[in-house]
Amino acid sequence: MAEGEFFRAASPQEAAGLLAQHGGSARVLAGGTDLMVAVNKRMFKPQVIIYLGDAGMSGISQEGDALLIGAATPLSVIQASPLVADKTPLLAAAIKQMASPAIRNAGTIGGNLANASPAADTATPLLALGASLKLVGAKGEREVPLAEFFTGPGQSVLGADEIIAQVKVPAQPAEAKWAYRKVGKRKAQSLSVVSVAVYCSISGGQVSGAAIALGAVAPTPLLAQDAAGLLQGKTLDEATIAAAAKAAAEATSPIDDARGTAWYRKRASEAVVKQLLTELAG
Ligand SMILES: Cc1cc2nc3c(=O)[nH]c(=O)nc-3n(C[C@H](O)[C@H](O)[C@H](O)COP(=O)(O)OP(=O)(O)OC[C@H]3O[C@@H](n4cnc5c(N)ncnc54)[C@H](O)[C@@H]3O)c2cc1C
Repeated sequence: MAEGEFFRAASPQEAAGLLAQHGGSARVLAGGTDLMVAVNKRMFKPQVIIYLGDAGMSGISQEGDALLIGAATPLSVIQASPLVADKTPLLAAAIKQMASPAIRNAGTIGGNLANASPAADTATPLLALGASLKLVGAKGEREVPLAEFFTGPGQSVLGADEIIAQVKVPAQPAEAKWAYRKVGKRKAQSLSVVSVAVYCSISGGQVSGAAIALGAVAPTPLLAQDAAGLLQGKTLDEATIAAAAKAAAEATSPIDDARGTAWYRKRASEAVVKQLLTELAG
């Protein structure tokens, strides 16, 4: 097969079966906004492409206290969903700031996560909300917390014959406080230099649960657990916020690249976490 083969999988199981059959020469294709850029740059040439758009993996529904988002759901559909706006507004806010309308029409949530970029913009809100992924492989399926999914830049626990079929996102309680900020070189069509999602439950004036997630400041999207722990049981006052912001920055291990220096990213991490927690303190 010199020029390659193209398959339209009719189900996640069929896609996984095709991956198992064709091994390392195969890649799944969702919106193509990462994959085709890499192919066009001749970073690799897949011999077999398995398209996921007809695999029944697109759509958003509610199951109990969680939203189930098909991995092949375009970002623009998630952004426009009244269910997402109502139940997980933190995710909607992050997607709104991604890329451009054209890229959001093609790009999918599963592609963004599977690509495993440290700057993947859906990863920070999903980490803060405690999302998990349904992975379907040739031999069965498993559920993996997103916090355990990423292992390095472009790397994850996804097996060679596995695909992400679904993202499960716990709904935000109506009283929960949240904020998201993306720092990029431009306002649109720009990868994050730093992104931060914060999420807090507050009862009786004290924090009863908190999560702080940062993007583009470590080899993987990062859940700053020690920093969030410093908020637990506390009032969101100036000293508590400053301590948490400092701890969040200490958890980062950024690099210099074309978009920003490690020095800037560490300082911006602290500043943005501080800013967002101060906003939550109201
Ligand atoms: C101009 C431009 C601007 C961009 N701006 C942003 C931005 O602001 N923020 C951001 O985070 N990203 C940005 N991106 C990156 C990209 O658009 C997103 O990561 C997008 O969500 C990728 O989804 P996709 O469906 O296009 O993935 P694809 O390109 O189809 O796939 C990406 C990778 O994931 C694999 N894959 C896809 N779906 C699955 C699945 N369900 N299971 C397993 N593996 C899968 C593919 O094999 C491939 O390796 C930008 C890209 C471009 C070209």
